[in-house]
Amino acid sequence: MPHQPDRYLLPEDVLNLPNALILMLGAPGSGKTRTSRMFPPDIVLRADDLRTLCAGDPGSQEAEGPVWQALDTILTARLSLGLRTTIDATNAEKDHRQKLVLAGRSHGAPVVALVMGTAPSVAQTRNAARPANRQVPADITADLHAQIVAAHPYLNKEGFDYVVFAESLPVLGTALERLAQEERAAEPIADVHRVFGAAAAELFDWETPSRDPRFRTGVFGAGGESLRVRWMDDADPFDIRFEAIVSCPTDWCPGPAWTPVRSVYELAAAHRNSPLDDSECARCDS
Ligand SMILES: [Zn+2]
Repeated sequence: MPHQPDRYLLPEDVLNLPNALILMLGAPGSGKTRTSRMFPPDIVLRADDLRTLCAGDPGSQEAEGPVWQALDTILTARLSLGLRTTIDATNAEKDHRQKLVLAGRSHGAPVVALVMGTAPSVAQTRNAARPANRQVPADITADLHAQIVAAHPYLNKEGFDYVVFAESLPVLGTALERLAQEERAAEPIADVHRVFGAAAAELFDWETPSRDPRFRTGVFGAGGESLRVRWMDDADPFDIRFEAIVSCPTDWCPGPAWTPVRSVYELAAAHRNSPLDDSECARCDS
C-alpha cells in the first residue's frame, strides 16, 4: 500500500522517514554528491560508484545497462527490507524516474524528490573543474537542467509523495553533525592513530575486557615486551587522552603509576620507565 504523505512534515523530517526512497534530481555539478553527505554513507546509492564498479571509471557511459541493473537489484533488496535509500544520480529523465518511483510505491516507501536548485552557471563551473573523465559537455548539462526545471512542478503528479529543495535544508550542519558523530564513534581506535601515528598503532591492541572498568585499556606489544596504556573516555578532546603504566615514583611502593602520553616520544620514555611528564601512583597517591 502506498505511503500516505503528511503535508505538515518539515523538509528535513521527510528525509528522515525510516523507509524513505529519496531520489536526488540535479544536473552534473549541481551539488548532489555534496548534498548527499548529509546522509549516512551506507544509505546512498551513487550511480558513479556503480559505474566505477561496472566499468572501472565513474565517468564511463559504456556499461549503463549493468549499472542500472545493479542499482535496481540493490534498491529492490533495500526496499523489501524497509531500508531508507538515497539515489545520487541525475534522475532528469521522466521514464527513468518513473521506474524508481514505482518501485518505491509498490513497497509502500515514502518517495521523495530532493531537487537541486543550483543555477546552471554554477553547475557548469563546478563541472568544468572536474577531472576530464567526469566532465559532462556543457550542452548536455544545460539540457538535463532544463528537463529538471520543466519537470519540477509535476513531480507530485509523477507519484512523488514529497518534493524537497536542497537549498531549504540544513545540509552543511547535518553533514557536520553526522561526521562529528562518526568520529566520536570511531574513537578510541582513531585516537591511537592520531596520537601515536599509524606505525605505532600497528603495535597496539585493545584489551577485552578492559583491565580497569573505569577506562579502556590496551597494550603496545612486540616481541616479548609490552606497555599497557589506558584511555579516558569522557576526557576533554583537547586534554590528555592516554596514560601509560610506569613504576611508582617512590622506591618503596610496588605501584603501578600512570603518566600522560601524548606522542610516540612520551610513549618511548614511558616504556623505558623515565616518563617525560608527572606520574601518579594508583596505590600510594605519590
Ligand atoms: Zn606508589
